[in-house]
This record gives sequence, structure tokens and C-alpha cells, in this order.
Amino acid sequence: MSHEHNRVIILGSGPAGLTAALYAARANLEPLVVEGAEPGGQLTITTDVENYPGFPDGLMGPAMIDLFRAQAARFGTRFVTGDVTGVDLDGPPFTLTTDNGELGCDALIIATGAVARLLGLDSETRLMGHGVSACATCDGFFFKEKKVLVIGGGDSAMEEASFLSKFADPVVIVHRREGFRASKIMLERARKNPKISFKTNAVVEEIHGDPEGGVTGVTLRDTASDTTVEEACDGVFMAIGHVPNTQLFAGSLELDAKGYIVTRADSTHTNVEGVFACGDVQDSVYRQAVTAAGSGCEAAIDAERWLESRHG
Ligand code: NAP
Repeated sequence: MSHEHNRVIILGSGPAGLTAALYAARANLEPLVVEGAEPGGQLTITTDVENYPGFPDGLMGPAMIDLFRAQAARFGTRFVTGDVTGVDLDGPPFTLTTDNGELGCDALIIATGAVARLLGLDSETRLMGHGVSACATCDGFFFKEKKVLVIGGGDSAMEEASFLSKFADPVVIVHRREGFRASKIMLERARKNPKISFKTNAVVEEIHGDPEGGVTGVTLRDTASDTTVEEACDGVFMAIGHVPNTQLFAGSLELDAKGYIVTRADSTHTNVEGVFACGDVQDSVYRQAVTAAGSGCEAAIDAERWLESRHG
């Protein structure tokens, strides 16, 4: 099996990974970015990005990723595509096993991101970015005066619904149970909002519409009576949690109860010396392209300083 050694490997190619690559490349570390199965990460499933500073007219998520990538490449970042199937963090050096051979490195930056938990319906996949969204901050603006459903019963659902009510009207929170997981204060805030109403004991069975015309409605199953009803709407926002992409690191890195990588306070250092984490894989709170990019910058600076302290 081939083995290639690198000073820095960056796993993941969303805003965090590509910003880490830009900074590491400009520090002459010749980073290698391993792009996963979904190059570009969550931004590639976002349509218009209007909240990234410096782009007053907004731009499409995939176009933004192309710009990040070109900027990282300009300073010598190398890219490989491959599925990493195993990691050996008993180092440094660290070893990654991919389908094309082994990759070694002195410092590893993990930026594998997270994915929104989804219902798993075919129609949800088909209409993602065309009326179905998992990010109110990204897409809420497109639903002015429109009726939207928010699926979920946790703090995210309450927060997304409150945020959406600044644009959309009405906003209906659809939750599969009678009881809510959301904190009392956030639930109360949503209940007091005149634009928000609730539908409990309801699960989405199907989302209707087409990519050209957008969402037209959903089929809801009432779990108490086991009957279905059609509910017209213009948008469906999934707020049923996120899942960090950390399966590879279970057992070798410290993860929190929800599976996010734990980083040392005010840094991107993990519990393994020489392994750094940035972006959504270690952030369950902010989850924005700009915050991910910021922490990618931090990871590259932390890695550079750490390498410097080891090798001089
Ligand atoms: P969460 O607390 O895990 O809630 C997920 C919700 O989605 C639950 O109500 C769950 O229903 C529902 N759900 C899960 N899978 C589902 C499915 N397949 N079909 C239908 N419904 C499904 O996740 P979250 O709301 O994203 O919050 C994550 C963490 O971030 C929490 O600790 C939360 O407090 C925190 N957070 C804090 C704030 C804030 O303080 N500003 C804002 C957002 C999030 P069940 O209840 O039936 O399981």
C-alpha cells in the first residue's frame, strides 16, 4: 500500500477546511486537503448565501466554495478526493487510510463538519433547496409572507420558528409528540408569537411540489388517530437536530455526549497533541459559514505554532 507523508493534512473541504488550507498554505506548510464524499460540505446544498460579509449581493453556496477552493489552491494547497476509512492517531505522525493508500502527517486538522438530521423522505431530498431547507438563517429571507412549517420540538425548532416569523407568516411548528424537548423559555417565546402556531402528534409523511415551482404542501399523519391530512404550505424547515461527522474518531478523540469533538477552551486543540478540530464538527451552537471559516483560520494558526514548537 502506498504511503505519502505530509506536514499538515486537512480533512474536509467546507469553509472551515478550506480556510485552514488557505492559512496553512500561506505559512508554507503545503497542506493536503482530503475532500470527502460531499466536497464543499453543507454550503453546497445551500442556495443563496446572503450573510457572508464581503458579498453584498450574495452568491450561491457552491460558487462560494469554488472561490474558497481557488484561493487555497493559489498558495499551494493540494487536494485529493477519497474516502478515509480509518485513522491512527497514535502519533505524531498520524496515519489515515483511504481507498487509494495511506496518508501520513505531522499535524492533522479535522474539519469534517456536520449534517442536518433529515426525515429520510425521497421528496425531502428532491426538494432540498427548492422549498425544503435545514437552515432558517440561510433561507428564511426567501419566504416573506409565505406559509412555512418547521419540523421538530427542540430549541432549534423554536429558534428557527421565531427567526422565520420575521419573514414568513404563518409559521407552523409540527412536532411528533405532545411534549416538547425545547427549554421552557424558548417554547413560551414561540407560544406567545402571534405568527406561530403548533401541530403536535403529527409526522410528515410526504412533501409535495417540484424543484421548478417549489413546495406546495405536505401530507401529515396524526399519530393519535392514525389518519392523514393534507396541509398546504410554501416551505418546510427541518429542525430535528444535527449529526457531527465524527464516526471515524470515536475511540481515538474525546467527543461530547452528542458526538462533537471537544476542543480545549479558546483553541482548536483536541485532546490529542497535534490534532486540531474546526468548524461544525466541534460547534453545535453557531454553525455559520463565517464562524466555520474563522475557526479554520484558528486551526491553521494553532497547527503552525504547534509544529514550530516541535521542530523549530
Ligand atoms: P434536539 O434537542 O435533539 O431536538 C430535536 C427535535 O427533533 C426533538 O423534538 C425530536 O423529537 C425531533 N426529532 C428528531 N428526530 C425526528 C424525526 N425523525 N422526526 C420528527 N421529529 C424528530 O435538537 P436541537 O433542537 O437541534 O437542539 C440541539 C441542542 O442545541 C440542544 O441542546 C439545544 O438546547 C441546543 N440549542 C440551543 C439553542 C439556544 O439556546 N438558543 C438553540 C438551538 C439549539 P422528540 O422530542 O420526540 O425526540
